[in-house]
Amino acid sequence: MDIVSKEKRSEMMSKIRGKNTKPELVVRSLLHSMGYRFRLHRKDLPGTPDIVLPKYKTVIFVNGCFWHGHKGCPIYKPPKSNVQYWEEKIAKNKERDRINTLLLQKLGWKVLEIWECELTDLYTLLSKLRHQL
Ligand SMILES: [Zn+2]
Repeated sequence: MDIVSKEKRSEMMSKIRGKNTKPELVVRSLLHSMGYRFRLHRKDLPGTPDIVLPKYKTVIFVNGCFWHGHKGCPIYKPPKSNVQYWEEKIAKNKERDRINTLLLQKLGWKVLEIWECELTDLYTLLSKLRHQL
């Protein structure tokens, strides 16, 4: 299953991680290193997906755990002040995400979500992408 050595892999990962810190850029580098071709921010699709892989009829959203209310997130902790304000804001984002996912699925797209916290373990993320694409 493992095609690259441990050393090579951590070298790859540190390159990817070092070059870009923005979650979306990290995912793009990762996909690129896996040989996938993709387009970015297709405005003609619901929710303007961050990454679009036309060949796989798949779109990817890279979600910030806080803004998109990642349930069971190992990193993000719910805010302790202005609780109602944030809860409403995040609930609105989640509802919009849900609707966009439904619309995309209706159009025949497969929708993948990648959470910001998943970028702390790129190897697991890489396997997830391999499995789901
Ligand atoms: Zn998370």
